[in-house]
Amino acid sequence: MDKNYDYLIVGSGLFGATFAHQMTKAGKKCLVIDKRGHQGGNIYCREIEKINVHWYGPHIFHTNDKEIWDFVNSFVEFNRFTYTPVANYKGELYSLPFNMNTFYQLWKTKTPAEAKSIIDEQVAKNFIKQPKNLEEQALNFVGKDIYVKLIKGYTEKQWGRKAIELPAFIIKRLPLRFTYDNNYFSDKYQGIPIGGYNKLVEGLLEGVEVQLGTDFFKNKDELIKLATKIVYTGKLDEYFSYSLGHLQYRSLEFNHQVLDTENYQGSAAVNYTDFETPYTRIVEHKHFEFGKQPKTVITKEYPLEWTTEKEPYYPINDFENETLANQYKKLKELEPNVIFGGRLAEYKYYDMHQVIASSLHAAKAELNVR
Ligand code: FAD
Ligand code: UDP
Repeated sequence: MDKNYDYLIVGSGLFGATFAHQMTKAGKKCLVIDKRGHQGGNIYCREIEKINVHWYGPHIFHTNDKEIWDFVNSFVEFNRFTYTPVANYKGELYSLPFNMNTFYQLWKTKTPAEAKSIIDEQVAKNFIKQPKNLEEQALNFVGKDIYVKLIKGYTEKQWGRKAIELPAFIIKRLPLRFTYDNNYFSDKYQGIPIGGYNKLVEGLLEGVEVQLGTDFFKNKDELIKLATKIVYTGKLDEYFSYSLGHLQYRSLEFNHQVLDTENYQGSAAVNYTDFETPYTRIVEHKHFEFGKQPKTVITKEYPLEWTTEKEPYYPINDFENETLANQYKKLKELEPNVIFGGRLAEYKYYDMHQVIASSLHAAKAELNVR
């Protein structure tokens, strides 16, 4: 039977959309399907009150890679937004990430030497040569005060696990700085697409056939007949019918609200770092694009364990799940005509720039360009 498409791409998120763009540019015929009613995966924005609402959580693009930055800017211009979230611990406000402003708020220290000496003293009390989990890593990194007020509660509710059960690498995402700099990221390039992320996805998918509301697994037998190769960006274990057991994911519930006020919290994000507040953060979307609309839209983000009817937002890369994911990855060898890519199919805690890099790499490999 004749195949109509070179590639059937399952998922219109950044991995699928980037791959489709590269292959279409190279003259290949692609069909992108997505089970959701919109394209873009988790970077999708919905316009409410003329504000681009980051429908699946706040997305700030950041990278050190000029090629990736130029690539995304070739579809849409990015603004100069810098992420400077605030932490609220039981009503006390602290600057994030951990920097000289935070240290002043905690201890009234004014110089790097003063702050360093407090952190060094606290680190020395609990120092562990080879930290094996997030708690040990955090105590080695910033000491007890910051760990208790700004890390432990947030982390344990975000992941639904004790910090001693979580991998150390998660906390390495956050910088520690002895300058008065509230920039959450240390990357060279950072911003938000002017007009929202949908513009980026529309640019990537220009000229590509997209079929929404189509679940790969509900129509698998028919769909696989359509293309020579499949690009799969859904859950790794689901592809293999959970034959080796279930991988765990962390899910979220987003409670979006329109408020009749111009400026609710003065920051794109406030993190609630105590354990008792049931949400991890409140996002106020207009600040991503310096909006001056008369109303505002806020989102409270509630972490949840993933179950079949929920969206799997985060892989849980602890030892048990990594071991199982690696066993599934071995099964990929039995599927030479399937490319597995993105946060879910690679089971990696990827940021957007990393997903794009992975997709560009996969496209290059397909085209044998070195
Ligand atoms: P996804 O965006 O998940 O796309 C996968 C698509 O596949 C989905 O649209 C899904 O519906 C579809 N799909 C799955 N299974 C099937 C099926 N069976 N049939 C059909 N379609 C299917 N990154 C940053 O760089 N900066 C940030 O600030 C940032 N913030 C984040 C905040 C949150 C709350 C979350 C969850 C993630 C954040 N990220 C951030 C990460 C970013 O969202 C991801 O790196 C990126 O969007 C992943 O793209 P993807 O294509 O791999 O997956
Ligand atoms: N984290 C924390 N306190 C904060 C923000 C983050 O303890 O105020 C920890 C938490 O464990 C989180 C990790 O740092 O999962 C990584 O944070 P990041 O903001 O990168 O998470 P994401 O945006 O991916 O949810």
